[in-house]
Amino acid sequence: MRALTGIQPTNILHIGNLFGALQPAVALQHDTDLAMMIVDLHAITVPQDPKTLRERILFLAAAYIAAGIDPKKTMLFQQSQVSAHSELAWILQTVCRIGEAERMTQFKDKAGEKSEKVSVGLFTYPILMAADILLYDTEVVPVGEDQKQHVELARDLAIRFNRDFGETFVVPKPVIRQSGARIRSLLEPEKKMSKSATNAKSYISIMDDADVIRKKIRGAVTDSEDGITVDDSRLGLKNLLTILHAITGQSMVDIAAGYEGKAMKNLKDDVAEALVLSLEPMQAEINGLLTNEDSLIAIIAEGSQKAKGLADVKIKKVKQAMGLLL
Ligand code: ATP
Ligand code: MG
Repeated sequence: MRALTGIQPTNILHIGNLFGALQPAVALQHDTDLAMMIVDLHAITVPQDPKTLRERILFLAAAYIAAGIDPKKTMLFQQSQVSAHSELAWILQTVCRIGEAERMTQFKDKAGEKSEKVSVGLFTYPILMAADILLYDTEVVPVGEDQKQHVELARDLAIRFNRDFGETFVVPKPVIRQSGARIRSLLEPEKKMSKSATNAKSYISIMDDADVIRKKIRGAVTDSEDGITVDDSRLGLKNLLTILHAITGQSMVDIAAGYEGKAMKNLKDDVAEALVLSLEPMQAEINGLLTNEDSLIAIIAEGSQKAKGLADVKIKKVKQAMGLLL
């Protein structure tokens, strides 16, 4: 069974990416054929500084490996090195309806009031994502809640293409991780934690040092109600419990029960310490990997070559099905 997942090299990863995307992907390596992308073509839908983007691509490869992605087992590759992604994205733009694209909430969230000024690429982003998924006969796409709608679009486009041009694509399923699936912003808990958020205090980067982590968790927005409870009306608190749950595997109810008679401050201190302990070994490994850039570049190139082999076969089938003379 083929599973596929990807993270944008838009910034250093945050703990939501780690708990919600990267760790579940690592677990998938055992019983699926995993494709793990560095989705740089997605990253450029918002402005990127070229020098920084290059660094972020290498960082992401290092983070994947440090988190436990094994490039021998998993097809770790860079999207822009496989030209079929761009080709299929164009073709699927001719299959996708304007109305469908307009319903995508990520565009509305990211474009906000400035929708006239953002790139067309930000609008067509979900169609590129559909191409990523459909090129590799992906059955399972493990994503956070924020990406579920995009996987559903990929399903719809696959079904329509198959109907109009003959059986070509495998229809994918979104798989939402039940726990830790959504880590919220520390400052605005009604929003998800995001790499491209402007205020760094809203997220914990996986490279934050101990002091920064303690400060950010201390500053996390909670409420002034008494007691530590699991409650959807207390999103800031629930977020802290979710983080502890993601690290320890203990249920949130059990964690909350352990804080009877204690204050929010006690919980925050424990969350901060748990994060420091779980991130430190990974940080050391990432830094080690980044000192050998050539080896990272070689790993990415090798995985991308493999991906290109598969993707080129698929894009040919697509063109043939549509009557585009080969
Ligand atoms: P950006 O702000 O640049 O969009 P992002 O933080 O949303 O960055 P992405 O690269 O878009 O990260 O998403 C990578 C993966 O991480 C996706 O599978 C997505 O579902 C997951 N993810 C993103 N944010 C969170 C979060 N706050 N909690 C859990 N998972 C998340
Ligand atoms: Mg995102």
